[in-house]
Amino acid sequence: MLKLSFLGGAGTVTGSKYLLEDGKHRVLVDCGLFQGYKALRLRNWAPLPIAPNTIDAVVLTHAHLDHTGYLPLLVKNGFRGPIYCTEATKDLCGILLPDSGHLQERDAELANRHRFSKHHPALPLYTEEDARRALDFLRPIRFEEVQEVAGGANLKFRHAGHILGAATATIEWSGVTTTFSGDIGRYNDPLMPDPQTPERTDYLLMESTYGDRLHDRSDPQGVLATIIGKAIHRGGTVVVPSFAVGRAQLLLFHIARLKAAGRLPELLPVFLDSPMAVDATEIFRRHAADQKLSSSELVAMGKSAHHVQTGEESRELTANPMAKVIISASGMATGGRVLHHLAHYAPDPKNSIIFTGFQAGGTRGAAMVAGADAIKMHGSYVPVRASIHNLSMLSAHADKDELLRWASGFKQAPKTTFVVHGEPGGSDALRHSLEQHRGWNCLVPDHRQSVELV
Ligand SMILES: [Zn+2]
Repeated sequence: MLKLSFLGGAGTVTGSKYLLEDGKHRVLVDCGLFQGYKALRLRNWAPLPIAPNTIDAVVLTHAHLDHTGYLPLLVKNGFRGPIYCTEATKDLCGILLPDSGHLQERDAELANRHRFSKHHPALPLYTEEDARRALDFLRPIRFEEVQEVAGGANLKFRHAGHILGAATATIEWSGVTTTFSGDIGRYNDPLMPDPQTPERTDYLLMESTYGDRLHDRSDPQGVLATIIGKAIHRGGTVVVPSFAVGRAQLLLFHIARLKAAGRLPELLPVFLDSPMAVDATEIFRRHAADQKLSSSELVAMGKSAHHVQTGEESRELTANPMAKVIISASGMATGGRVLHHLAHYAPDPKNSIIFTGFQAGGTRGAAMVAGADAIKMHGSYVPVRASIHNLSMLSAHADKDELLRWASGFKQAPKTTFVVHGEPGGSDALRHSLEQHRGWNCLVPDHRQSVELV
C-alpha cells in the first residue's frame, strides 16, 4: 500500500510537492516554491512535515520554480538523494535555481537597506550558493526510459508540452501506477510537442490551472501586431513581463514572424532584457529533439531582439525614451528586472503592458490584470495608467477544453483523479467537468491531506 501526501500545489498553482511512500521509501514529486499571497509565501519558511534526509529521491516534472524552487532548501536541510528530471529540465534548472537564489539575496539586501521588512535583518530563503549545491544532485533521464528511483519504484517521463523538457511522470510502485500530469501544455503549439496522455493509470494527479477558463482563440500574431502597433504610434513603450523560459522564446518567435511579414517595422527595437531568457534560448538549440523549431528559425528568433546583459544596461534602457518593446522577467512581475521597467513605464498612458500567462492570485501581475490603479513595489506605490493586456492565447497551459482532451486519451478511467495545481475555482470546475463528461471519480485534496493508494 502506498501513501500519497499533498505538501503543496493543492488549492494553489504554486508550491507543488507530492510525497509518495511505501512505508520504507519516500519519493517526492516536484519540489516547488509557494508564490503569490503572503500566507502562501510564508509556507516556504515553515519546516516540511518530514525530515528532508528521509526522502530517498525527488522527481521533477519541469523546471519552473513553482515545481523546483524549494530544492536548494531541501538540500540545505539534509536531502542527499538523486533528483530525477529530463535532460532539458536539468539544463534549465542550471539557470533558474541560481537566479532564484540570487534574487532572494538581493531582495533581502534591499529590504535591509530600505528597512521595509518587519524582520531585522531580513534573510534570503536560500542563496545562489545553496542553489548551485542542489544542482549537483540532478540526474537526467530520457523521455520514455524506465528508471528505478527508489525501492522498486519505476519512473517514466512522457512529453507534457508546456515548456522545454516538461514531462508527465508515471511511477509504478508495489503494483500501483500513479501518474503526475505536471503542467499540461497546448496542442499545436508552434514551439512545443503536443502533450501525451498515458493509456492507463490507477491514480492520477491532474493540474487544473485553467480548469474553469477557455483561452482566447484569436491569432496571437494579429493581436500582438495591433497592441504593439498602437503603442508605437503613440511613441510609447511596450513592456512584456515574461517567464524567461518558454514564453520569452514564443514571443520572439511571433515577433520575428511579424517583422518578416512586414506587419511590424523591421527596425522596431525589441529588447530581451533577461540574461536567463538568452541562456534559455541557447538551451533550446541544444535540445532540438524536444522542440519544433529548425536551426534557421532559432537563428531568426535570436536576431529579432537585442540582448541586454548587465543590470546597468537594463537601467539605461529604462531611461531611453524611444518607442520600443522590452521583454523581461519575471512573468507575474514578482521580481526581476521587469520591476524597474514597470515602475518607469506603468504610470504613463502612452505605454502598454502585455502579460502572457497565468497570473497567480496575490502577484503584481494578477493585480494589474484585474485593473489595480496602483501596485506596490519595494515599499512604495506605483500608479498604473498604461494600457494592460493579458494575452491568454500565449499561455503555456492547456485551457479547460484542452485539459479534457488530454484526459480523453486514457483508455480506462483512473480509480481516483486528484485535481491539483489550481486555485479553488479552477480545481472545482475541472473536477465537475471530469465527473460530468467522463464519469470519473475525482477529489480536490486539501493542503497537507494524505490518502492511501491500494
Ligand atoms: Zn510550469
